[in-house]
Amino acid sequence: MIAARSFANADVGVFGLARSGVSSVRALKAGGARIFGWDDNQAGRDAAAREGASVKPFAEWPWANIKALILSPGVPLTHPRPHDVVLMAQKFGAEVVGDMELFAREIRSDRAKPGKAPVVAITGTNGKSTTTALIGHVLSSCGYAAEIGGNIGKPVLDLASPNGKTVYVLEVSSYQADLSPGLTPDVAVLTNITPDHIDRHGSLENYAAVKARLLAQTAKTGQICIGVDDIHASSLYTRFSSNGGPEAIPVSVGKVLGRGVFAVDGTLYDAVAGRAAPVMNLGAAAHLPGAHNWQNAALAYAATKPFVKDTRAIASAIADFPGLPHRMEDVGRIGKVRFINDSKATNADAAERALVCFPDVFWIAGVKAKEGGIESLAPLFSRIRKAYLIGEAAKEFARTLEDRVPYAMSGTLEHAVAEAAADARNASVAPPVVLLSPACASFDQFRDFEHRGETFRALVAQLSSLERAAS
Ligand code: ADP
Repeated sequence: MIAARSFANADVGVFGLARSGVSSVRALKAGGARIFGWDDNQAGRDAAAREGASVKPFAEWPWANIKALILSPGVPLTHPRPHDVVLMAQKFGAEVVGDMELFAREIRSDRAKPGKAPVVAITGTNGKSTTTALIGHVLSSCGYAAEIGGNIGKPVLDLASPNGKTVYVLEVSSYQADLSPGLTPDVAVLTNITPDHIDRHGSLENYAAVKARLLAQTAKTGQICIGVDDIHASSLYTRFSSNGGPEAIPVSVGKVLGRGVFAVDGTLYDAVAGRAAPVMNLGAAAHLPGAHNWQNAALAYAATKPFVKDTRAIASAIADFPGLPHRMEDVGRIGKVRFINDSKATNADAAERALVCFPDVFWIAGVKAKEGGIESLAPLFSRIRKAYLIGEAAKEFARTLEDRVPYAMSGTLEHAVAEAAADARNASVAPPVVLLSPACASFDQFRDFEHRGETFRALVAQLSSLERAAS
């Protein structure tokens, strides 16, 4: 745990007492602050009370003395409108920040000072978790003590304090970036920018601006690695490559770059400091399937080069990466049918990356639709043998698929798996794939994408044991 000492002897409010909120309470307590906390959820309130917070509704906090509000990234800071607790903090002049800001105030990126350590921050619409885990894996394989956290895994303040070999590898969501003005990464990574979370940022421009701010916070001596294959990220590259700040490295899949890191025809090339040299065959990375994962691999390569001089060691660590659950995870085969769990695909762009990997897909989609729906997937509809629609999104998705793709209104994941498995088994295509890549958020039927993916995995296991028993 990292003690947050920036509010020693001061009063601080912590609003939102899920994992990162409770972690902030613990770290602030260790750093000598007095903490007031609230969450609508009783379990969170109990946990914060156990860590020493004085738990009461925020209207009852001693606002005249409160120096800072530590806001959970799940609570609206600006859109659709600021939460009342934010307005209250603004009225009393308390700064509003998140747990990553507390972390940043302890672990500044000045590596020369004791108790400090370098920080790699990864943001973007899709591929953040995979790229974060991959960077952590490469650094650990090459002798660093990689501490991976933030939006993936542990809250930042729960990570270990630095030793001489520590590098912090942090996944930073746009909500967290918005609350971390003092996070100054040594290496910043932007995977891509496509429409998502627009409800919470007001517009795509605001959303891109939050990402840009995190990049702009990169240490002057640092490096920014940007996936340049979409127009928004590419225009940020143009901006950061010409502003005299940290070195900006463009990363592409499919485009040969005069300078940068790129993957073409499954080979990764390094053209950062001279003529393009092949680094590795990305097909060797069994758990990074698909061109979208090549983008993640290329970014991870670019981001770890400042730490690992032996590029062959980086390539061999990328090839060994064990993969992350719920992202194109192969959860088994029943007869000739493969089952792929891509529950983390919570928007159309992510689902597109999965659909493009297979020619004959029995596609399970839906739960709660996001703005924009799945019309953008139309060029891939010919790959979908049939769609199995679940949750609230089913009606909207059905309207888009009407007359173009056969679909079933499966309603629940349980029905969808049973129906898709039966259809795939009887299909003449080889090898048929049942793909859960929902293009949707998980709320209404599931706690989160993990719950949805685990339910899928369990249903496939159940089906597999029924088949075994019957044969
Ligand atoms: P994030 O943490 O940004 O949500 P993940 O690595 O968890 O990203 O991947 C989420 C989903 O997005 C996966 O299901 C995958 O299909 C898709 N995906 C992963 N990497 C990329 C990428 N670089 N570009 C587009 N989609 C991607």
